[in-house]
Amino acid sequence: MSKFLHTKYDSLTPYDTSGEVESMKGYIRLNTNESPFPPSPKVMSAVLEASRGLNYYCDPECSQLAAKIAEMFSLKPSQIVFGNGSDEILNFLFMAFCEKGAAFPNITYSFYKILAKFHGVDYIPVPLKNFRVDPSYYKNVKGRTIFLANPNAPTSLAMPLSEIEEILTSNPESLVVVDEAYVDFGADSAVTLLPKYGNLVITRTFSKSRSLAGARLGWCMTSEETAADMRNIKNTLTPYNINAMTQAAGLASLDDEEYTRKNIDMIRMIRGNTKSRLQEMEFEVLDSSTNFLFAKHETISGEEIFSSLKKYRIMIRHFSNPPAISDYNRITVGTPEQMQIFLEIMRGITKNAKQ
Ligand SMILES: *Cc1c(COP(=O)(O)O)cnc(C)c1O
Repeated sequence: MSKFLHTKYDSLTPYDTSGEVESMKGYIRLNTNESPFPPSPKVMSAVLEASRGLNYYCDPECSQLAAKIAEMFSLKPSQIVFGNGSDEILNFLFMAFCEKGAAFPNITYSFYKILAKFHGVDYIPVPLKNFRVDPSYYKNVKGRTIFLANPNAPTSLAMPLSEIEEILTSNPESLVVVDEAYVDFGADSAVTLLPKYGNLVITRTFSKSRSLAGARLGWCMTSEETAADMRNIKNTLTPYNINAMTQAAGLASLDDEEYTRKNIDMIRMIRGNTKSRLQEMEFEVLDSSTNFLFAKHETISGEEIFSSLKKYRIMIRHFSNPPAISDYNRITVGTPEQMQIFLEIMRGITKNAKQ
């Protein structure tokens, strides 16, 4: 730490990006929930085309993207705000709407806690029940903003819309944020609830189902009023937060729904197959509505599985905390070829452990 740093930043806890670095080249990376498929060829040519205009500032409103998404979900463009990844949207939400604190599951996307701490937001970690969100645990949050990833990470489980609605209804004084990063892989979107609930915010990303994690593009959908607040914050801090190439990439991706659809179908198929193979090796695998599996072996520890695979240059995600999930690992669904190698090595590891 330099002597120049503001003292309020002397104990930051940054997000763990160790699984995403250059040195992971040559590894099979099943640890960061990216798509194993490249973006659509249409995205690539749109990015090249957009690069010709890089001498100009980009559109701060992402007007074309907003119009397109508004049409897709029967909303007004003014209900949509874009972020440099949905992580930036989450940052704005913690900054703008958490004066009375926040509440989110004790096992969920780790960034919520990091942002709460950074912004000095008082938060309650709400326990899950058998790894599921129980709406009855969200009855006394006293105006705190509620953050729910649906489907949740790292558990991979989705909650039914009726339960989200229950939380919305019992907390009219709270904003309820539903993080739908993985919704395309098999959960019902809360978008249909937007006309009915003024306290709902939905966040989305191009990073997972649309193969654009490196482009950094996410958005939120909410009431016009809340969106206006978000836009104000965004335009104060980073008016040009979505660069021209990323805007073009996003648009081209939305114009090629067939490509995305095909990849999602493929991921779901590989997911089902991988799950069955793991079950044959005595893994307990949760019911995934995402592009990853959350799995625990009957006898071998989570840590041991993680480190054994690493020796073979296969990365999965292991969480040592909280202890309730330390015997599980999160395994991103890769290409059929990647999963074949993964399963073969996994078979060896489980056999060895038996001897
Ligand atoms: C990956 C992920 C995000 C962040 O996505 P970006 O748009 O890449 O910032 C948000 N929420 C959850 C639950 C995620 O898994």
